[in-house]
Amino acid sequence: MSQQATEQVHGHYIGGEWTTSAGDRPQSGDGSEDTFESENPATGETLATFQRGTEADVDAALEAAEDAFEEWRDLSAIDRAEYLWDIYHELRDRHEELGEIVSQECGKEISEGKADVTEAWHMVEWAAGNARHPHGDVVPSEVPGKDAYMRRKPRGVVGCITPWNFPVAIPFWHMAIALVEGNTVVWKPAEQTPWCAQIIAEMMDDAGIPDGVFNMVQGFGDAGAAITDDDRVDTVLFTGSAEVGHEIASKVGGQPGKLAACEMGGKNGIVVTEEADLDIAVHSAVMSSFKTTGQRCVSSERLIVHEDVYDEFKARFVDIAEDVAVGDPLDAETFMGPAIEADHIEKIRQHNELARDEGANVLVDRFELGDEEIPDGHEGGHWVGPFVYEIDYEPDLRCLNEECFGPHVALLEYSGDIEEAVELHNDTPYGLAGAIISEDYRQINYFRDHAELGLAYANLPCIGAEVQLPFGGVKKSGNGYPSAREAIEAVTERTAWTLNNS
Ligand code: NAD
Repeated sequence: MSQQATEQVHGHYIGGEWTTSAGDRPQSGDGSEDTFESENPATGETLATFQRGTEADVDAALEAAEDAFEEWRDLSAIDRAEYLWDIYHELRDRHEELGEIVSQECGKEISEGKADVTEAWHMVEWAAGNARHPHGDVVPSEVPGKDAYMRRKPRGVVGCITPWNFPVAIPFWHMAIALVEGNTVVWKPAEQTPWCAQIIAEMMDDAGIPDGVFNMVQGFGDAGAAITDDDRVDTVLFTGSAEVGHEIASKVGGQPGKLAACEMGGKNGIVVTEEADLDIAVHSAVMSSFKTTGQRCVSSERLIVHEDVYDEFKARFVDIAEDVAVGDPLDAETFMGPAIEADHIEKIRQHNELARDEGANVLVDRFELGDEEIPDGHEGGHWVGPFVYEIDYEPDLRCLNEECFGPHVALLEYSGDIEEAVELHNDTPYGLAGAIISEDYRQINYFRDHAELGLAYANLPCIGAEVQLPFGGVKKSGNGYPSAREAIEAVTERTAWTLNNS
């Protein structure tokens, strides 16, 4: 964003126009400010200022989306995809620049910032390419001369609500599919990453997507709720915390004709068996627990390790946790950037305290980094380091059941067979991601068949996604409409179509 741009207040994108809510429209009524700022979490500096969306803004966006729907629906999917191909090329051409912006706005180290952009174009490529693939089913009929089909139609207006931690990829996981399938979109991005959202909206505008087909309202949870609560919204695609997702799923999912696809957090575990290659185990655990400063839905907060390899695994894991480089996200040497915001540091502190209160034996406590560890010029950043502990397993410990969403990780020792390990693994209300580290294919197969999760990995970190696979969880982590290809179910309705040809 240029210097000149940072001095202005950026608005919403509604009906093909850039607009602010400052005029005489009613405000949110809770006394909060009309604008908010995007902050660099590594320095505490303001990056840009944005208009805070109100119910009136959401109302205008929904009206525009409704008005644009019929014309958009009546285009062929291949024509709709053409707009997305322009965006695909722009994401690729601006990879470096956008990767740096992601790193600056959400604190991810630079390779992860760029990976966020890469994942976005993978999704756009998949969704736009899918426009030329078979769509629906031709099925046999019991009656000679009768043709029978399953056809898909767009559902209408899709409300997309996204989190901050993949500020470019996740919006495209939602919106690329919704748009190519013929829906119009009203998007409420995360309040922590409005700059990334502004750029995505500019790309949609540059691609010439017809007015009202894509709309973006900046703001907070009240603007999100104004989308989910409105009868004009046919599908809500939500990715974020379980707290908010469950509220949306029960509110929206209970209404006839409306659908909410909610992807939420996890309390993900890695099982390290007595047959594990410990190089792979330690690498997988470090990547899964500390990448993105533990702020991924798939980050691992539980390491379930067999007694035969426990001491060696613990020593090696603790050694790395003591040393892992926390620093400036734009520095190529950095492994972990800052936490997203001051409130989140407080949440991580509370989780660490909770573990202590519940009997943790703390092995690494770098929650408060030393002054010498904080890079020069970054004293205003939200710095936090690894917190590692071991604890005797008990089923109801909150520290083993509640998502921290930070570099906070428990080691649990088990002594039995793979059945016991998987039982421990499954004993959480969540079911998003997990991994097994073992050289024994029978143990791997047992984990594959019995671990309760949506994303299972063997001899790999439990992070990472490929857009051609489903991405979503079970239990408290998701309600069965994963992102990527399965999201087609959430943004289309099926018609059984029969035709008498005799
Ligand atoms: P969050 O739930 O606080 O916010 C997500 C979005 O919901 C934001 O845009 C927010 O403004 C909006 N929102 C808040 N209250 C709302 C309400 N009442 N009605 C409608 N919208 C509302 O989550 P976050 O802090 O941005 O992200 C972190 C969480 O997201 C973690 O729990 C993480 O595990 C989860 N996550 C899940 C996935 C996945 O694919 N399963 C991916 C990334 C992050």
